[in-house]
Amino acid sequence: MADAFDVIVIGGGPAGYPAAIRTAQNGLTVACIDEWRNHDGSAAFGGTCLNAGCIPSKALLESTELYHRLREEFAVHGIRASGVELDLAAMQKRRADIVRKMTDGIAALFKAGGVTPLQGHGKLLPGKRVELTAHDGARRELTAKHVVLASGSAPIELAAAPFDGQRIIDSWDALELGAVPKRLGVIGAGVIGLELGSVWRRLGSEVIVLEALTEFLAAADQQLAREALRQLKRQGLDIRLGAKVTGAKVTGGGAGGGATGAVEVSYSDAKGEQRITVDTLIVAVGRRPFTRDLLAPGTGVALDERGFIVVDDHCRTGVEGVWAVGDCVRGPMLAHKGKEEGIMVADLIAGRYGEVNYRAIPSVIYTAPEIATVGASEEQVKASGRAYKVGVFPFLASGRARAMEATAGFVKLIAARDDDEILGVHIIGPLAGELIAEAVLAMEYSASSEDLQRTMHAHPTLSEAVHEAALAADKRSIDSINRP
Ligand code: FAD
Ligand code: NAD
Repeated sequence: MADAFDVIVIGGGPAGYPAAIRTAQNGLTVACIDEWRNHDGSAAFGGTCLNAGCIPSKALLESTELYHRLREEFAVHGIRASGVELDLAAMQKRRADIVRKMTDGIAALFKAGGVTPLQGHGKLLPGKRVELTAHDGARRELTAKHVVLASGSAPIELAAAPFDGQRIIDSWDALELGAVPKRLGVIGAGVIGLELGSVWRRLGSEVIVLEALTEFLAAADQQLAREALRQLKRQGLDIRLGAKVTGAKVTGGGAGGGATGAVEVSYSDAKGEQRITVDTLIVAVGRRPFTRDLLAPGTGVALDERGFIVVDDHCRTGVEGVWAVGDCVRGPMLAHKGKEEGIMVADLIAGRYGEVNYRAIPSVIYTAPEIATVGASEEQVKASGRAYKVGVFPFLASGRARAMEATAGFVKLIAARDDDEILGVHIIGPLAGELIAEAVLAMEYSASSEDLQRTMHAHPTLSEAVHEAALAADKRSIDSINRP
């Protein structure tokens, strides 16, 4: 007799685990199956985000930013430090401890919330049956009224630079390096390339980032992208645009490069064939949906031409009772997008209301300064043909940013000329990732720029810059010069 649940969730990342918790909150029986194994072989819930993505990267970004500021920026505050030393082992231990606490936290939430945790591989069989293969190889069959697929994504491998796990590595390996590479190559100036490039640059690596496109952060608002490129280059990131990698060869030091190995990377750009030699090469050219051995023949669940599970706006696969959420379906590969989808599906299954507003998904790059956006870029608004106005407020004019010695960047707000609807907000500056929440909330409530203008903001705070950008959209900024 198969174990029966109301809902089985396959995948315990930030899309799957909230789906499971909300399902239990709704009074239904639920199991969450996850196959994640860490480099040391230990199993853990939390998926890419907690084990190898959002959380460990932010732990290292925080530590390395402190190290960098102590060495380079504290003197201006009148704080002199000498004998500052890097203890990378301690920094990495802190990163690993944070990850362990967070993933243990999910196990505790499952226990407290009544979710049945099952570690191993889950495979959807026809008829909403699920085959579970535990890590010891034992198999059993489960049944459910609803199955939620939340299998996530995996790094894209480049044929010209295949991973060897030593010298040519993915983002997970790049988070766990035990030594600072003298010369670090990164393929891809996307989110991962910029965040991890920043981590190792701050610790002393010479970092060369090779980006195939000629435009930097091509999908972002280009005024924001230009400022980001300027700031990151000033920090010493050697970002080379229009660089198409044609090959990467590990040389010296035996198989995998060994301690003395290096990687020769060849690429072509507008000037012709180029070559660089680096100690370590991170390949960060995007991620692909991960659905290996997830679907048995005959389930009826469709994949699109890029391998994403096909779903509608409410994450229904088209097979009654089978849903899919997170990185394995269309849309930005972001933890919070997956979380909201997981919660929506759990509520829909329970007969409650559920909706995701795909027009108000914030996106943050945790460089210094941070880069945060929501809604349309100016280029997108222009292309739509809708008349618009723009308000920009520089952090140079913010008292709080000055006090923090963090005046680089600005807040840019785009609103419609006809009804004043906020169409997009783009921030580069201190704590931009926190500031963007106000813009997301405003857009969620269909606020106008006037609504933000008439909302009181505490002084002196960074959030005043959002207020002032809204005022600037109508040339009514108080603390900056309103441009014609
Ligand atoms: P995942 O987190 O990939 O989880 C899927 C889980 O399902 C995994 O545990 C996997 O082992 C398991 N699984 C897959 N198939 C099966 C199966 N058949 N049976 C059982 N288990 C299975 N996003 C942000 O929003 N903010 C950030 O700051 C951020 N930083 C990132 C930094 C890095 C370095 C990386 C790589 C990613 C980052 N992301 C960030 C992206 C974020 O990690 C993903 O968008 C998010 O993890 C997707 O969640 P998910 O649940 O869909 O998939
Ligand atoms: P990405 O899509 O952000 O960037 C990949 C970059 O690589 C692009 O600029 C692309 O033009 C470039 N590229 C592709 N092929 C190339 C080639 N052959 N040579 C040179 N450049 C090439 O992908 P990513 O940085 O790998 O991140 C993967 C996903 O993880 C993203 O979807 C992102 O949303 C998510 N993520 C999010 C965060 C965050 O929210 N802070 C952090 C890390 C990762």
